[in-house]
Amino acid sequence: MTKRFSGGCACGAIRYETGSEPIFENHCQCLDCQKRSGTGHSSYLTFPNRADMTITGEANTWRVAADSGNEKVHAFCPTCGTPVYLTFVAMPDRIAVNAASLDDPAQFNPRVVTYTVRGHAWDGMDPALQAFERMPPG
Ligand SMILES: [Zn+2]
Ligand SMILES: [Zn+2]
Repeated sequence: MTKRFSGGCACGAIRYETGSEPIFENHCQCLDCQKRSGTGHSSYLTFPNRADMTITGEANTWRVAADSGNEKVHAFCPTCGTPVYLTFVAMPDRIAVNAASLDDPAQFNPRVVTYTVRGHAWDGMDPALQAFERMPPG
């Protein structure tokens, strides 16, 4: 049976679902992710095919240039403010969802930590994860 990934915002206005498997699962310690999460990092599952993701509800978006210079579009619920998903101007097929927005957050299986250069001592990461000082290439 194919594992499905579904989730949404805290109030339920935004919902998503996909039958695709994530190609990248990471914690990101960059400054944007700290500001938006209110703590030391944000956590994401990135899926290869945005067209396979069914999204319902109207998100608000905020476009920002990442530390790398690549523009990202953060989608969040206008009612409850939950960050739900993220798209990338340079990689329009990809879509990432915030790990804790999953209906079953235990599906998140982080492999990588990005932007450790921005990380704080109080935001300890599992040393078994592959760590990148910035964004890995590709
Ligand atoms: Zn909401
Ligand atoms: Zn980040």
